[in-house]
Amino acid sequence: MKLIDTHCHLDFEVFNTDLVQVIQAAQNAGVNQFIVPGVTAVKWPELLNFADKHSSIEYALGLHPYFIDQHQDKDLTILRDMLEKENAIAVGEIGLDYFDKTLNKEKQLYFFEAQVKIAKAFSLPIIVHARKSHDDVIRIVKAVSFESGGIIHAFNGSLQQAEKLIELGFKLGFGGMLTYEKSSKLRTLAKQLPIEAIVLETDAPDMTGASHQGERNSPEYLPEVLKSLAEIRQQPEDYLAEKIYENSLTILGIRKND
Ligand SMILES: [Zn+2]
Repeated sequence: MKLIDTHCHLDFEVFNTDLVQVIQAAQNAGVNQFIVPGVTAVKWPELLNFADKHSSIEYALGLHPYFIDQHQDKDLTILRDMLEKENAIAVGEIGLDYFDKTLNKEKQLYFFEAQVKIAKAFSLPIIVHARKSHDDVIRIVKAVSFESGGIIHAFNGSLQQAEKLIELGFKLGFGGMLTYEKSSKLRTLAKQLPIEAIVLETDAPDMTGASHQGERNSPEYLPEVLKSLAEIRQQPEDYLAEKIYENSLTILGIRKND
């Protein structure tokens, strides 16, 4: 069984001292590929170096809505430049966060739309952070006629929104939240969706699952999300893993890491 952690921030400082062990532990657990999205322009060069050193890591470049205060117009120029020269597999992590009211909404909309347009120009998928903003994500993707799809990470919208996004070529990312029995809305959704629409992620170091509350999250725990999904859907883990592995490769246009 092989799994890809389609969203983990292994470049964050909290992994500095033991990254090699973290990757090894994940690989021992069957997770053999990691997608690390970028969050701010100042950190992109580091991320590039970091991904260069680890053959199991692929990276995306993007401006994350959490850091909206830091983003500047020139970052968009740098983004185009780097996509031209480097091997990013997607534009991300980009998006809209309306849950956190301190984040400037107009500026978020500006940078999200601009980055969707850049992804379109490079025919790259996007990795999207969306909280309370799925309708705007759908609206902008349509307005830009963006057709490369991507992943809506840590999906937490409605079934109706999920269906629209799937139609637009997106996969939906599920992580640690699925392992909590109290996540009943999310669990129902994970049962209703076609398996072709699902990818798995940890969002490490955040979004820890039920058995690891209070700990640093790690890609090593991704099989626990798969286990929950198998219980919820009443389908074998092996079957789901195989399907999800293919979904992940296809949507991100990446090769297997053998
Ligand atoms: Zn993230």
